Amino acid sequence: MTDLQDAWADLLRRRPAFRDTLAIYGDVLERWARWSPPRPLALSASPAAWRATWDSGTPLAAEAARALRAADVEDLVGAAMDALARVEPSLAPALQRFAEAWDGGAVGPTALLPARGRIGEGSNVAGLGADAIAFLAGASLRPALEVLYGPAREHLAEGAWSLGVCPFCGGPPGFTDVVEEGRRRLACHLCGGAWLFAKLRCPFCGVDGAAHLARLTPEEAREEGYVISACRECRAYMKEVDRRARWNAGPALVEDWGSPHFDLIAHRQGYWRPIPSIVQLAAR
Ligand SMILES: [Zn+2]
Ligand SMILES: [Zn+2]
Repeated sequence: MTDLQDAWADLLRRRPAFRDTLAIYGDVLERWARWSPPRPLALSASPAAWRATWDSGTPLAAEAARALRAADVEDLVGAAMDALARVEPSLAPALQRFAEAWDGGAVGPTALLPARGRIGEGSNVAGLGADAIAFLAGASLRPALEVLYGPAREHLAEGAWSLGVCPFCGGPPGFTDVVEEGRRRLACHLCGGAWLFAKLRCPFCGVDGAAHLARLTPEEAREEGYVISACRECRAYMKEVDRRARWNAGPALVEDWGSPHFDLIAHRQGYWRPIPSIVQLAAR
């Protein structure tokens, strides 16, 4: 069992009512655990070059586009497609076309990689819209991008990055951890990276200040420590957990996947997120 699987099992013990709804995530984690890179994946540049790239306000995103080939991630993408077909059976024909395009080389990993903090924006790959592409990316890329970018993490100095996209893969943030002194740490689900971010700024549109921020709090007292933080300007939202109140919270990805009831609240109020949760996919 990997750490993520362990944490996932723990989350389902805490929230047993979601066991069936969230079964596909357990399957995705199992496929991730079985995956290993078919060939070595490594960043091309040195830590000094990474730091220079960050100084110029650029994530290391070009590295994944350069390094990843279709064969590296096709098992992972296949697993994500299985999961998506189960969540949204009406996508089966489009997924079939996507698989054919992938096998024929017309579509590859770059279709799933983020660009400027968005995934699949404006795309219509084999008839799959941006939401479906973003879901596939979120359910497939993590193990490969973690291998690729993991070595760069320790070289990101505190304060060296202030943007709202992942400094490593360039992906959108997927979850917020509130850590010591109330600081806000954003988590990237695509590569597992994390970075500190301004407390009152929207990472998606950059607007600053408490006036633009909406906080949707779940009603149940037992959900203390969890909040949905949304932007009134661009209508994006992210879930967050205050780790000072929730010492037993799992990794950001697990907490995010394991709280679809919060996505439902945000979705009903007209908020969106870059990588949709399964409740949003199933609702369309
Ligand atoms: Zn990332
Ligand atoms: Zn915003």
